[in-house]
Amino acid sequence: PTRVRFAPSPTGYLHLGGLRTALYNFLLARQNGGSCILRIEDTDRTRFVEGAAESLLRALDWAGVKFDEGPGIGGPHAPYHQSKRLDIYSKHADQLLEKGHAYRCFCSPERLAITRLEAQKTGRSASYDGKCSHLSAEDSKQRVDDGEAFVIRMKVPDGKTVILDEVHGKVEFSNKEVDDSVLMKSDGYPTYHLANVVDDHLMGITHVIRGQEWLPSAPKHVILYNMFDWNPPKFAHVPLLLNPDKSKLSKRSGDVNVEDYRDKGYFPEAVVNFVALLGWHPGSTEEIFDMDGLTKAFSLDHIQQSNAVVLREKLDWINKTHLIRRAETKEGLLKMAELVRPKIESHLGALSEKHSNEYIARVIDTLKERIRNLHEIPTLCGYYFREPVYSSEESVAYRTKVGEEILRKVLPTALELINVDSSKELEKDEAKAVLKTVAEKHGLKAPVVMNALRYTVSGVKVGAGVPETLATLGRACVVDRIAKVQS
Ligand code: GLU
Repeated sequence: PTRVRFAPSPTGYLHLGGLRTALYNFLLARQNGGSCILRIEDTDRTRFVEGAAESLLRALDWAGVKFDEGPGIGGPHAPYHQSKRLDIYSKHADQLLEKGHAYRCFCSPERLAITRLEAQKTGRSASYDGKCSHLSAEDSKQRVDDGEAFVIRMKVPDGKTVILDEVHGKVEFSNKEVDDSVLMKSDGYPTYHLANVVDDHLMGITHVIRGQEWLPSAPKHVILYNMFDWNPPKFAHVPLLLNPDKSKLSKRSGDVNVEDYRDKGYFPEAVVNFVALLGWHPGSTEEIFDMDGLTKAFSLDHIQQSNAVVLREKLDWINKTHLIRRAETKEGLLKMAELVRPKIESHLGALSEKHSNEYIARVIDTLKERIRNLHEIPTLCGYYFREPVYSSEESVAYRTKVGEEILRKVLPTALELINVDSSKELEKDEAKAVLKTVAEKHGLKAPVVMNALRYTVSGVKVGAGVPETLATLGRACVVDRIAKVQS
């Protein structure tokens, strides 16, 4: 069975690239009835950020990426925090020492700095020069007994290492380019390379899907698998995410934090749909997917090699499409009403009881074509909840544009037609018929009548279609506003 993992380091929040990696893993597991494991790679204590793991999980949960095993979920390979597995790594490092695949290195930080500089000057790709690999077993043992601090390094053999990557195909590395990397630090913590390989093996991982920035580390990992006599998993290194100017997507370049997108009013299914398409294509022209659709369509061989540009306009379009989809059902509209209600209240103040979620749902339905994002609702919807502010500069200008003469013609007729049976709901079709009758009676064009009524009930130029606005406001409110503007 397919077993994949998402293995974040708790160094900050979940960014778009992290969400995409987690999503691809989740999709592959889900479509194969496999398992998706969450593993927290928290062995670099210098980069540890308090609360980061919780924030990552919150964002993943919001996006709908779920795990079968992991911290807080449990599973046969617990614990899933690497910091709680230290004895496992040290045991494995010792095995490599015994087999001669690793050695203790006693070099001081000062000496390491010098070898690094040397490597730069001479063009040697491996930064460490291998000095301690020549120590005899006795010397090494003696220095440990003398209490000298040391790290354990892997002893990269000569030759070359080939990675068979699901995205990049066959990638060959000369082992000369591969550093004798540290496996165990002097503080007893493993490095990423050792912990990652040991855990992927012990946890039965079949596919490693991760960012392309890890491709240069892959030969190290494959060499480690060989040293342990283990079969490596399949690798798929997914392309980098770029800004529109082709620079690397980073914190400085704006919005990379998944929770920021949530806070800006984007739907989880839209953000998921958007990141899925960053570097993967379904092999058809289809662009709108929900999680089930993605699960069916996803495949590793449709991941592209070239880097993917993050375009905000594309996300806006995808979000809008999902918004229209949600608005197709009563349930979807109500859910959106619930989400947007606090935003309206913080913009307009507390809403009264008559402004129920059902009412807000109708409001959203009338405005849905005009917005990309729910957060545009509060500034657009004022007249649905409050008397229009006719004295505002915008409103006064609109009135001038509509013209007093037109108002004098349109309003009495409209009032007469609408102010009938107050117990009967004002339907959209009835409102349409009113507009038509008024236009015919006075020989006016439809848009002229429309603007007169739009001004009267909303005071603003942009808003929902006039018939649906009238119907949503309701007969009593419309009558009231016409009377007010007339007086
Ligand atoms: N802990 C690594 C990271 O933060 C995981 C890389 C991998 O998936 O191997 O990205």
